[in-house]
Amino acid sequence: MNFAMSTLRPFEKDLDKTSPNRNIAPISTEIDTEEKICVAGCSLSGLAQKYGTPLYILDELTIRKSCKEYRESLSEYYPGESMALYASKANSSLALSRIVASEGMGIDVVSEGELITALRGGVPTNKIIFHGNNKSFSELSLAYNNNVIIVLDNQNDIKQLASIVKSEERKARLMLRFTPGIECHTHDYIKTGMLDSKFGFNYTEIENIFVQFKNIKWGELIGLHAHIGSQIFEVEPHRDLADVMAKVLKMGRKYGHPIDILNVGGGLGIRYISSDDPPSIKSWVKVVSEAIFEACNNRSLELPLLMCEPGRSIVGTAGLTIYSIGSKKEIPGIKTYLAVDGGMSDNPRPITYESKYSAYLADRPFFKEKNRVTIAGKHCESGDVLLNDVLIPECKCGDILVVFGTGAYNFSMSSNYNRIPKPASVLVNKGNSDLIQRRELPEDLLRNDILPDRFIAKD
Ligand SMILES: *Cc1c(COP(=O)(O)O)cnc(C)c1O
Repeated sequence: MNFAMSTLRPFEKDLDKTSPNRNIAPISTEIDTEEKICVAGCSLSGLAQKYGTPLYILDELTIRKSCKEYRESLSEYYPGESMALYASKANSSLALSRIVASEGMGIDVVSEGELITALRGGVPTNKIIFHGNNKSFSELSLAYNNNVIIVLDNQNDIKQLASIVKSEERKARLMLRFTPGIECHTHDYIKTGMLDSKFGFNYTEIENIFVQFKNIKWGELIGLHAHIGSQIFEVEPHRDLADVMAKVLKMGRKYGHPIDILNVGGGLGIRYISSDDPPSIKSWVKVVSEAIFEACNNRSLELPLLMCEPGRSIVGTAGLTIYSIGSKKEIPGIKTYLAVDGGMSDNPRPITYESKYSAYLADRPFFKEKNRVTIAGKHCESGDVLLNDVLIPECKCGDILVVFGTGAYNFSMSSNYNRIPKPASVLVNKGNSDLIQRRELPEDLLRNDILPDRFIAKD
């Protein structure tokens, strides 16, 4: 049975059947004849047996489908050249770098670690761009030496690059990031477009930068960048953004800078719970493309290359986490806690942003009788709760719990709190599962510990 036939909202594949970000589960999710949840033909309880829990699972088809949606919609709706880049901070690994590169996408990175992951994953250097509000000298050197585009965030970037770039023969290729002063309805912590933001130059400073760069020989301004936030369901802010960007583009060209790229950032949301209602990738790209086209057209500007940098909407829905259920604590008249073998170390989003998720039992997704429970993690923190007050069928210790929508900002934000090793990640595709990240061992956590000699001498 396919989930599309079920009456459960989370698995509905109605409207934009082709847009993975509008489903809670990965697009290759199905229920087998024994009523077990399978993704890409692999039963989730089978994967638990094979790899252990907790386990991150990524559906390759969902990732590729999302990349294609961006690529194809950009060429459908934007008359100029375009390029989508994957914001690798959402989930960075060699395998993911390889997948998105093979889909023709670029990658954006914000650290030496993300940069070498992209490079070794096979992303061409001309499709990598380097961000960050406090880039170190060595990060800037590495980025420049690899010829990737560097996004200038502040004067410190400019000062450091001036001493890194020795010859004017190979100028640094630069984009300017600015805060456009646009607000959007999302969680305060991830709102970056408004003026009070640690990222980028203020809108009001830009003209000065254009003046400053008239005398700079070691680099050229080839693009503008703005990113207005994350997990956004509205498309309107992007119309305003396009207008501001075109205005700045016109000003930059007036000062003689060869600005040829507008990068509108990422931010498209995904459906974590049934009441979430994000636009499809296609409709997001349509609004963005038309808005940039119109804003440039109105000012008689030659069309720039349009870039966007989605992270969450590429990998979020592709991922899920499976856990084993362990202890249960009933507080009569108050609530019942079910604890799983992971928690805030593998998924810090609920404790950080109060994020909501959808959970099912891997082998009984449709069981009618359900109990109201709170799913807690195993960490020494009362706030370590993955799902508050959800309905789950009666279950026992050892049953497998599935939490959907964990492909973005879970592994990449994971920690070793309580010295809990990080889960393994597997990629599933057409009935196969491949390990793409080994499970950490407790021993791995001692790798960098050093016991000073004098302590040993004393014993
Ligand atoms: C986080 C971020 C993105 C990706 O955001 P998503 O909401 O995951 O699409 C893109 N660009 C920049 C500069 C970012 O900081």
